[in-house]
Amino acid sequence: MIPYGRQIIGDEDIAAVEAVLRSDFLTQGPVVQRFENAVASRVGASHAIATNSATSALHVACLALDLGPGDLLWTSPITFVASANCARYCGADVDFVDIDPDTFNICPDALQAKLDEAARKGRLPKIIVAVHMCGQSPDMARITPIARAHGVKIIEDASHSIGADYLGTRVGDCSHSDITVFSFHPVKIITTAEGGLALTNDAGLAAKMDRLRSHGITRDADLMTHAPDGPWYYQQLDLGWNYRMTEMQAALGISQMTRLDDFVARRRALADAYDTALEGLPLRLPKRMEGANSSWHLYIIRLDDPTRHLAVFEALRAAGIGVNLHYIPVHLQPYYRDLGFGDGDFPISEDYYSRAISIPLHAGLTDDQQAQVVAEITKALA
Ligand SMILES: *Cc1c(COP(=O)(O)O)cnc(C)c1O
Repeated sequence: MIPYGRQIIGDEDIAAVEAVLRSDFLTQGPVVQRFENAVASRVGASHAIATNSATSALHVACLALDLGPGDLLWTSPITFVASANCARYCGADVDFVDIDPDTFNICPDALQAKLDEAARKGRLPKIIVAVHMCGQSPDMARITPIARAHGVKIIEDASHSIGADYLGTRVGDCSHSDITVFSFHPVKIITTAEGGLALTNDAGLAAKMDRLRSHGITRDADLMTHAPDGPWYYQQLDLGWNYRMTEMQAALGISQMTRLDDFVARRRALADAYDTALEGLPLRLPKRMEGANSSWHLYIIRLDDPTRHLAVFEALRAAGIGVNLHYIPVHLQPYYRDLGFGDGDFPISEDYYSRAISIPLHAGLTDDQQAQVVAEITKALA
């Protein structure tokens, strides 16, 4: 089976992890901070907080922005469940804004209309999670001013898009958001096995996320309620979690970061080749938005004829092509149906779901494998 995504682990990655295993610290040593600095300086953000997953980074991001019971968070239905679940962890409610059918990202027109209505009803969200589907930035040039005009905070869920650019700057620089989150799950652009990271340019938010990923504890005397009792002293200021990244994960991350540009360049070349090879088939191919240069986490085709969706998907799997579907609309998951969502709530997302197939795309995919994918898609659609 040619997988839709997979990691590349080189000898240098293995050596980096082994060196940490032979060192004094497996956790809470110097390597996590080095990884944070490597990512922050690469993308141009002031602060980076590494965590044990993007899911936990989203959770501490919501907490740092004071999301709590009675509050509301909006995101797109076409995302991994974690983009919405982060609100539920905080006791807040979730609602969704339908996607733009060309980009699969949150639709700025739908957002504008829904925000205006929410303002009239006095039920504005506190946070919008803008997801970078497939590695392409949402239309932040429109989304951010609309949201900020209503006092809404913005988290970019850039789990797919480390290495991408938007309007001449690097995704992750938080020029359009309060906090940006990356994931380092093995199918993503670079990996730390499990792992995530939150970026911000706000020192206060960074300090809060730093504390919340480690039990809510501080060793900073300036933040304590009284002078330290002694050198051993720390204080727990908030209820936090253990969301720390290990030194081994960070070492792998630092090593992977040195090849980020190569990984993204290969993904971009493969996406270009798919655009050419799949042209003319009864499909819609991904659209590239002006000003956005995707990192191409996913290459998603949409069938002109949704009645053939299941058959084409099964034929491709049977032919050894590890296709997948990103994503089942979150509002249709049983957990969210129980909260009151249902069929027909977000029709563009549901139409997308009836046609979408993620085809293999990762930095290790060979030209021969790609040709095989194209041949099988052509055959399945004949
Ligand atoms: C992968 C992913 C996450 C969760 O990442 P983990 O690191 O696995 O917790 C969140 N949001 C999106 C859009 C993702 O693709």
